[in-house]
Amino acid sequence: MAKLWVRWVCLAVTCALFIAAVPGQPVGDPAEAAMHAIRPEAIRAAMRFLADDQLEGRGTATRGYEIAAKYMASEFESIGLSPAGDASTYFQKVPFRSVHVEAAGAAFTVIRNGQAENFLFGSDFLPGGDANRKESLVEGPVVYVGFGVTAPELNYDDYKGVDAKGKIVALVFEAPNFASSLRAHYSSFEIKVANAVAHGAVGMIILNDPVLESIYSFSERKRDLERPGLRWIEKDGTLHDSFPQLKGGAGLSLEATKKFLEGSGHTADEVFQAAKEGKPLSFPLPFTVKIREQQKLEDVSSPNVVARLEGSDPALKNEYMVFSAHLDHLGIGAPIHGDSIYNGALDNASGCAILLELARAFAQMNPRPKRSMLFVAVTGEEEGLLGSDYFATNPTVSKKDIVANVNIDEDQMLWPLVDIIPFGAEHSSLGAVVKHASARLNLELSPDPMPEEVIFVRSDQYSFVKQGIPAVYPTPGFKSNDPNIKPVEIFKNWEATRYHQPQDDMQQPGLDFNQAAKYAHFVFLCGWLISQDPTRPTWNEHDFFGDHYAHKM
Ligand SMILES: [Zn+2]
Repeated sequence: MAKLWVRWVCLAVTCALFIAAVPGQPVGDPAEAAMHAIRPEAIRAAMRFLADDQLEGRGTATRGYEIAAKYMASEFESIGLSPAGDASTYFQKVPFRSVHVEAAGAAFTVIRNGQAENFLFGSDFLPGGDANRKESLVEGPVVYVGFGVTAPELNYDDYKGVDAKGKIVALVFEAPNFASSLRAHYSSFEIKVANAVAHGAVGMIILNDPVLESIYSFSERKRDLERPGLRWIEKDGTLHDSFPQLKGGAGLSLEATKKFLEGSGHTADEVFQAAKEGKPLSFPLPFTVKIREQQKLEDVSSPNVVARLEGSDPALKNEYMVFSAHLDHLGIGAPIHGDSIYNGALDNASGCAILLELARAFAQMNPRPKRSMLFVAVTGEEEGLLGSDYFATNPTVSKKDIVANVNIDEDQMLWPLVDIIPFGAEHSSLGAVVKHASARLNLELSPDPMPEEVIFVRSDQYSFVKQGIPAVYPTPGFKSNDPNIKPVEIFKNWEATRYHQPQDDMQQPGLDFNQAAKYAHFVFLCGWLISQDPTRPTWNEHDFFGDHYAHKM
């Protein structure tokens, strides 16, 4: 810690000198002082509260989460932000249907030449969980459809030449080697399900391949099945993004995938290799499958926390720059090393703590930023970006008045910050914003270093993108100025030993709140630049996301 602290001071001094030496840098503009009001110790304090065992891991729709939401609302109130949730409160209630898979009623049977082979729950297969009905049953022929992606604008179609109508589709996770965000978009589960339904499929099987196993292993998925899955409920009572046309679904383990593909004319290795090369084959399988699921359904709710800082410009204050950070984590779950509370300190007490400091820093400005700002702590992120999806679909201000979203999730404050990876910035004029902010802080910008992890669809900015709102998710990058500090190794080690485990808590070594504050400066400047610019952010011309979603505004 001491070493990192000393390093940070050195970097900060270099940075200040650099800024002073560059002509035309806006030194002394109001943002400079406001930004430096962000306090590392306040970030630490808020994280310490939110990641405390008493909050029981802030699982969506649990008491621990409710306390966290009350805490955020109280802080926003004390900072002087106004309530911007439902009915003049800080809370936007999100109605959910929870789905608890019941192992006893689950079955997966492969029928080859009249011979039934039962796969085993938990070791061979896991049921998908069907929010639309208590009991699901589907039986039919199976067709393998590669990634299950149809992307006409990229001249790509896994369904070409196969007939999925009335059939169960089997597919692998991931997507073709499109550019980073597009690859992420097409790998997203909702997009694949919608595409399967559009092709007439009645069931879905997710095969396991080494890529999926490395990102989200079968054993992790099994562990996560102990927590209920969630879907949010539309005003008409139907479930959002939940397709009743699919009457059954399951995921297979790596071993079961190999067994499943036996006799298909293609070995699992061939199938994996073709997928890895980005050109999977599609072919019908010579057997039928029967999937049975049973689940307990319950209607619950959990709030987003929404606070407003009114802008100072008479016209621009009617528009909103939205900061988001997810407040939920995984709650209480299977014990690991004797601990069952998934505290979620970096994921994402860090983001919520930074959200509070940003709110405080902007609220102290006089005059305040020109545009209004919304600070939104969302629920249900870990269950599939649900709280942000609900907010972006049903915002508490007019959707067309939301100009941009900047999302904060899992600030890796474990090494000195040298560069930023601005996920999604390349699609809109926010690209210029992140350039400006990074130059001012003497930070570098880096491209997505691991497109296979599809990070662009794994946090809440994606919910805003899908509503046509330009969004960016900046994260600390992996560059280092010190050969003894290797951020990629630190991060990989963190992922393996703490990510989504009870060990992501305040006791973990290496939490460096000065680095968190430095990262917060970057996010602050992004928000500041967006709120001051007389022109609102725009999608780049012919951008995929702009073309697909801007009409939703
Ligand atoms: Zn997470």
